[in-house]
Amino acid sequence: MARLALAIAKNTLLGRRVVAHGGAIQGRMLEMTLKRGIPVFGGFAADRLIEEDGQIVAVSGMFRGERTTVRSRFGVLMNVGGFSRNNAMRQKYQRHPISASWTNANPGDTGEMIEEMIRHGADTENLDMAVWVPTSLNPDGTLPAGAQGKDGTPYPFMHVGEIAVPHYMWVDKHGNRFVNEASSYVELGEAMYRHDAVPAFAVFDDRAMRNYAYASLMPGMKPVKKWLESGFLVKADTIEELAKKTGIDPAGLAAQVARYNRFAETGVDEEFHKGERQYDRFRGDPTHKPNPCVGAIDKAPFYATRIFPGDVGTFGGVVTDERARVLRTDGSIIEGLYATGNCTSSVMGRSYPGPGASISPAFTFGYIAAKDAAAKAHNTAA
Ligand SMILES: Cc1cc2nc3c(=O)[nH]c(=O)nc-3n(C[C@H](O)[C@H](O)[C@H](O)COP(=O)(O)OP(=O)(O)OC[C@H]3O[C@@H](n4cnc5c(N)ncnc54)[C@H](O)[C@@H]3O)c2cc1C
Repeated sequence: MARLALAIAKNTLLGRRVVAHGGAIQGRMLEMTLKRGIPVFGGFAADRLIEEDGQIVAVSGMFRGERTTVRSRFGVLMNVGGFSRNNAMRQKYQRHPISASWTNANPGDTGEMIEEMIRHGADTENLDMAVWVPTSLNPDGTLPAGAQGKDGTPYPFMHVGEIAVPHYMWVDKHGNRFVNEASSYVELGEAMYRHDAVPAFAVFDDRAMRNYAYASLMPGMKPVKKWLESGFLVKADTIEELAKKTGIDPAGLAAQVARYNRFAETGVDEEFHKGERQYDRFRGDPTHKPNPCVGAIDKAPFYATRIFPGDVGTFGGVVTDERARVLRTDGSIIEGLYATGNCTSSVMGRSYPGPGASISPAFTFGYIAAKDAAAKAHNTAA
């Protein structure tokens, strides 16, 4: 840790920009590409696939203001991301309510090349799925203060860390819990749709606010004034007042809080078994007994936020085979067309085992596609 801190301090002083994680991997791959003399068309905006004699032979798009077509003898690999930022596609393919403004995916997640592959006969699967992440918004669906990038791109607050802490639960508009709040974030999004709970309400008390991080607040920080003014964060002295202010059924919420507080005493969540799995507990509070994920909601003031199924990317797309080749609805192969990543229907199907479940298959099937195309080149040369 000390070595890392020293390295960061040194680089800051020297004005060096150091990247890690994904940026570092991409940098290394770009370096290898350039060293091999492979041309890179940075800023190429693809909009068309060119088909000749039933085979995809080129990709066409705008590059530096001019229509540019890049031909390939052995295959075109689509690695163009999903369609999180394309509201028309989200309305067309996904469950409702949904909005492109709930996403945290990158601004390039625009989906037009998925539509282009569909135009060329590609089969699709799981277009209604996304890597859901609990996301909070104002009551009218607008962004709370501080949830926008410098260029105006919306990056709503995501709730991953705090969903398993004590003194915190989720309810629907009737005041009833409907899921184990410590579940995987994708499962939480699915549960919201299954139980007609969009939005759901996160309900918590003063101890949760003081002891754990929330949205952009670190533990112990005071709620942002603008959040209280806009109704993003609702604050009340009693559970009944909280219910009235948020539009949750007061009797339902009071009964649910009473049940939940009983579970906190015994440590056993009789409704959804929160805290029974190691998966739940590793994000709970190990100092909280008897259940690191379940604590009473009984210390005023009480708080609530509306939670929507935001996401970090869509998770359905064109259907590919084990060699990353794009398939038609009849199962035949679209010759010359490969795809990987979020523009495809994930190899994970409708489940998301954990972080990495989208990036890793994108890399793996990109590699497989390249090997497959390279084998064609080899066979042609032989
Ligand atoms: C905040 C956040 C946290 C995440 N954490 C994780 C994690 O922990 N683990 C994990 O596995 N995943 C995580 N993800 C998801 C992960 O980043 C994506 O699943 C992954 O980047 C998808 O890879 P991809 O190559 O399919 O698409 P992308 O990385 O989106 O790349 C596609 C590229 O294609 C470009 N493009 C799109 N259309 C066109 C076009 N017409 N012409 C030219 N270029 C085009 C886009 O601009 C983009 O640069 C996270 C995402 C976010 C936003």
